[in-house]
Parts: sequence; C-alpha cells; structure tokens
Amino acid sequence: MSKKVFVLDASGIIGGFLSGKYSNYTTSQVVTEIKDIKSELSLQDALENKQITIKEPSTRDIGEVEKVITRSGDLLRLSDVDKGVIALAVKLKRDDLSPTVVTDDYSIQNVLKIMEIPFRSVLTRGIEDVVGWIKFCKGCKKTYPANYTGTDCEICGSPISRKRTKKVTNKK
Ligand SMILES: [Zn+2]
Repeated sequence: MSKKVFVLDASGIIGGFLSGKYSNYTTSQVVTEIKDIKSELSLQDALENKQITIKEPSTRDIGEVEKVITRSGDLLRLSDVDKGVIALAVKLKRDDLSPTVVTDDYSIQNVLKIMEIPFRSVLTRGIEDVVGWIKFCKGCKKTYPANYTGTDCEICGSPISRKRTKKVTNKK
C-alpha cells in the first residue's frame, strides 16, 4: 500500500489542520496566500519542524488538472493557487503516494472528486454530489453548455447567466 500523505490548501492551514502521523504538503503559492499572523506563525513553526513540506507541481501536473476543470466547467472558479494544490496531489499520486487534499473549497473538492483524489474538509462538510455548471438565458431560459463562451442568448439576446447543477445519476 502506498504511503498516506496530506496536501493542504490555505483553508487547511488556516483551519489548523496538521497531521502528526502522516506527512503534510503544500505549495509555495499557498504559503504566500496565508496573511493572518496567527496562521503565518504556526505555518513557519511547522515548516521549521519539518511537519509540513513545500513542494511544487510540474507544468505537466497542472496541464492534467486544467484538462479536467475545462470539462467540469469549474475553470472560472479556480485560481492558479487552487489548480496548484490539485496538481500537487496529482504529482504525489504519481510518486506512488496516497494523497488526501485538505480543503474547504467546494470547487476544489468537486474537481478532486472527478479526478478520484480523496479529500477532507477542515471546517465544513464536503459536498455529497458532484455538481457541474450550466449556463442559461435570463430571458427565454434556454440552457447552454458550461463551456458556451457567448455572453448573450442566441435566441433572444438576453444576458447569459450560470448556475450549479447536480450531476444526473442513473440509479438502478
Ligand atoms: Zn434567450
């Protein structure tokens, strides 16, 4: 069995998650996101005591994540920092480790679910179902796929908005 490790995003660090039993990883981008003094100090402490390791994903890892989020429609919701966290999990998985991502961000959790990478929340409960995005016309309610790039409806010219959808599951 591959060794279990944790990958923390900013919410994981701010929430005070730090495994004493398994290795904790994060990216340097996440570290720069930590702004409050208390979290910054405990992070510095954890880094000095080697309780947490900074590791960077490769361009290849990030490319793999981008492919998935383009399909899921979560692209607009994820920052480069978010993508980096997911990509780091992809990298660690390829290094034959078994990463669990610690994050309270639903968009990150959504992508992880699709990529079959385990995650856990720090403060809130994780989402139950994979959700996607659809776009719809505010006027005539015509729906468009999440990757539709137009800003106006093809039918009536009203602005396009978007909303979350639950994944349709075929339960037999
Ligand atoms: Zn319309």
